[in-house]
Amino acid sequence: MSFYDEANETAPRERLRTLQLQKLQSLVSEICGRNRFYTKKWSDAGIVAADIQSFSDFEKLPFTCKSELVQAQEEAPPFGTNATYSIDAYTRVHQTSGTTGTPMRVLDTPQSWDWWGHCWGHVLKGAGVTSADRMFLPFSFGPFIGFWAAVEGAKRIGAMMIPGGGWDSIQRLHTIRELGATVVCCTPTYALRLAEVARKARFDMSSLSVRALIHAGEPGANVARTKARIEEAWGAKCFDHAGASEVGAHSFECELQPGGIHLIESEFIAEVIDTQTGREASAGEIGELVITNLGRPGFPVIRYRTGDLVRMNLSPCSCGRTFARFDGGLLGRSDDMVTIRGVNVYPTAIENVIRQFGSVDEFQVTVTSVHEMHNLEVQIEVVSGNDAELVRTHVEQAIYHALSLRPTVRVAKPGTLAHFEMKARRFRRLDGPSGNQ
Ligand SMILES: [Zn+2]
Repeated sequence: MSFYDEANETAPRERLRTLQLQKLQSLVSEICGRNRFYTKKWSDAGIVAADIQSFSDFEKLPFTCKSELVQAQEEAPPFGTNATYSIDAYTRVHQTSGTTGTPMRVLDTPQSWDWWGHCWGHVLKGAGVTSADRMFLPFSFGPFIGFWAAVEGAKRIGAMMIPGGGWDSIQRLHTIRELGATVVCCTPTYALRLAEVARKARFDMSSLSVRALIHAGEPGANVARTKARIEEAWGAKCFDHAGASEVGAHSFECELQPGGIHLIESEFIAEVIDTQTGREASAGEIGELVITNLGRPGFPVIRYRTGDLVRMNLSPCSCGRTFARFDGGLLGRSDDMVTIRGVNVYPTAIENVIRQFGSVDEFQVTVTSVHEMHNLEVQIEVVSGNDAELVRTHVEQAIYHALSLRPTVRVAKPGTLAHFEMKARRFRRLDGPSGNQ
């Protein structure tokens, strides 16, 4: 088993908790008085940062929401008030989509960028990547953090990094073959897209040397059927990873793949809350992931509501790691979870059902709400050569069996649904005149 930081990855949980508390205290003392956003937020809440001596003190700190970070940026453009140091101290700026469409910028110092690389070291070693590997990154290297930090991780491991921006899919496939890439980092959607392009161009996927795909940006790598489909197309193992621009690269899948991702608990504190009440969710219950990053004092997020749904599992993993895991990876966005006729429906559950159909090329799920009643509508594109009506009926039945919910399934004309290159948006909600969402 390969570890990146074995001492911490396998430490007894009490020791991990002590380490987290020590890191938290030094973070709080570093930012208090310097970081305008948190200094004001805590002072408004009547909290004296120096009083944080335990996890129960920590839990008194107010949650941070994305909308607040966006507002903090609007108050002091272009970088906002969540900057602990003077702007000269920062060497990188990236951006992510904000809540209202305005991009939200995140800043890194050389130290915090190093920390991103350290976290990616866990992701890569977790997937068994070594200095002998050649990593291909079919990524645009634009303003989104995406796989930029994977490059830092590769440097730490000593693996060769092959930048794959600026090419179309077929050029990328040829480069992967010619340079003998063994690892590919991309979204699950793009892995499927490359396989689809190869199929149409009669490019032989079995001529590639890829043995591992490291996925991020979407939950797919832990959606059993999506994972199986990618692994079959590539003849390689796929690994899930989760992170966010404003948080960091926080979770990764180990080689034993226990059906979930490990949180890097030496660098992050995770809590799971009930989305309605904001209280800690009961053990093993699905709730919203709240995260605190411990290694980015220049742009910290403390008790940050990620909007991601997770189910935390604290039992030790057979890989030897004591880091908590999120069973099934990120299960979807809390905004996307709806209760339809008493059934909790979240996007990965539907994806898992639809992906078992090799005859379905692409799909789109729409939840319509009229008079507070939700309906599930699924559009599918059927691969040519199949009986579309038969596939439609089978998809409808499979969703009904899996979720006890009868959706409306329609067949879309080939090429009419969006085919995604990077992050997919296959789930949307439309609210009718009396919808309350
Ligand atoms: Zn493990």
